[in-house]
Amino acid sequence: MNTTLESRPTTAPSATHHDALIIGAGMSGLYQLLRLRRLGLNAHILEAGSGVGGTWYWNRYPGARFDSESYSYGYSFSDEILQEWAWSEHFAPQPETLRYINFVADKFDLKRDITFHTRVKSAHYDAAANLWTLTADNGPPHTARILITALGPLSAPTMPRIPGVETFKGTAYHTANWPHHPVDFTGKRVAVIGTGSTGVQTIQEVSKTALHLTVFQRTPNWCAPLHNGKIDDETQAQIKANYPAMFARCQETFACFLHTPDPRSTFDVTPEMREAFFEKLYAERGFGIWQGNFRDILTDRAANAEITQFVARKIRERVIDQTVAEKLIPKNHGFGTRRVPLETKYYEVYNQPNVSLVDINDTPIERITETGIKTSDADHDFDIIIYATGFDAITGSFDRIDIRGVRGQSLRDTWSNGPQTFIGVMVEGFPNMFMLMGPHTALGNIPRSIEYNVDWVTGLVAHMQAHTLTYADATPDAVASWTRHVITVGTGLLSNEISSWFTGVNSNVEGKQTRIIARYSGSAPAYRAWCDTVAAGGYQEIVLR
Ligand code: NAP
Repeated sequence: MNTTLESRPTTAPSATHHDALIIGAGMSGLYQLLRLRRLGLNAHILEAGSGVGGTWYWNRYPGARFDSESYSYGYSFSDEILQEWAWSEHFAPQPETLRYINFVADKFDLKRDITFHTRVKSAHYDAAANLWTLTADNGPPHTARILITALGPLSAPTMPRIPGVETFKGTAYHTANWPHHPVDFTGKRVAVIGTGSTGVQTIQEVSKTALHLTVFQRTPNWCAPLHNGKIDDETQAQIKANYPAMFARCQETFACFLHTPDPRSTFDVTPEMREAFFEKLYAERGFGIWQGNFRDILTDRAANAEITQFVARKIRERVIDQTVAEKLIPKNHGFGTRRVPLETKYYEVYNQPNVSLVDINDTPIERITETGIKTSDADHDFDIIIYATGFDAITGSFDRIDIRGVRGQSLRDTWSNGPQTFIGVMVEGFPNMFMLMGPHTALGNIPRSIEYNVDWVTGLVAHMQAHTLTYADATPDAVASWTRHVITVGTGLLSNEISSWFTGVNSNVEGKQTRIIARYSGSAPAYRAWCDTVAAGGYQEIVLR
């Protein structure tokens, strides 16, 4: 192929060579493959799983489904896909989403450029050859001029550091490593550890059939109703007719959801109006109560207290046993300051006779035993233990690969005091490495952010092609200025004052106990404006040669 970015390896003759290598065949990797292919590059994906889908490939746990409206989540770049694909529910379940991603991959014949069953272990930049060399857990090394990380911000699952985990004789699963066959809970004593978005979805589903379900909760979260439903034919037709307007709306909102903050402040209105507004949001579908609430609920403590008290009242109304209700009400953070799990009758689950809640702050887990879980006051026997214990988020998937830059320096060490990036896409000293959904990018409704991220990277690669450039590295000034900006924008947000994956904290990972500002927390339009200015200015923040 005759492109300027085409290159032949000089350092690793036995290696398989491509113009660009992409790590990960999730939604970002697939779209990036298509865009690079359309530029004429020989691009290739290395993927650990046996199929495409990323998050939606791995997270097959019972109850897994969208929390963003299905139609706002799918790819927007192809009218053909938009018109051919019909979402069955407002919030599609995981099997449907996985089918959708396969449909897209097949439509564009993407799988022929993907090597599956290949987990990348290292990526080293060779300055003399201006090439990246990747090694994986099997197969030959791979070389490429361009390296694209499409790793996903929530893709490195973490098990709890509880003694005895390996001794359990029953069946144990992490939700992000769920088997490909159905798991039957009928007649089974099941434990779920973890009550984040994943735990909440799992608990709702498992409680329907398990003989007994015991939930081990460390920190309760503020959950809100999903209000899912089937999409009828008339609504389907409206959705398909309105795609351009809907995606235009997503481009305008704060985090690319269909919902965006109300322009009013909490105390602009009377208490009665406030209550009525909260009631309306609580009765509406999706993230409205979080993303479409008064504009100051995540920055003003008094405003946050109002919505927090409202949701606490709802929990007390929905849970019959008030001792259990109090355990389910978070006490260390206000509503919306951590990711809000959306639920369907989650709180009512605790009214069922086959469900019990163990607050491990009162009775800590001492160890996992051969037969179950030993807390400070009881031995609980189980057939199945489900670990819904989350991820080493945002930087964790990078940490698991030995990524080395121009001076042999490791990315892990470079970020030991928190990530430093240029617009979340580049890291100084790691030339031609472009991150999709990397640290310090705008996340929000992820596919919307992915498409922008991929389009921006594709624009830069096209610019390099057009100007016969083979080397791109962010300047130290550009990195310092973006990192400062991210920290400034994140300062004062109540969500950055509480430990969660938003703040890079994971109690199960050495060195991840200190809060950092891990994601860009300004608006998506502001993020895009910054990146657009860089491109329009001819990429002056990047050393190009
Ligand atoms: P998470 O929010 O980090 O929750 C992990 C849970 O495990 C927390 O309740 C945590 O308690 C608990 N935990 C961790 N280690 C523990 C230990 N050693 N002992 C006891 N409990 C422990 O992870 P997640 O629920 O997988 O969700 C992560 C993110 O994925 C979500 O916030 C969301 O962005 C995304 N997600 C999206 C969807 C969707 O869109 N539908 C669904 C699921 C997940 P602490 O809080 O005390 O640490």
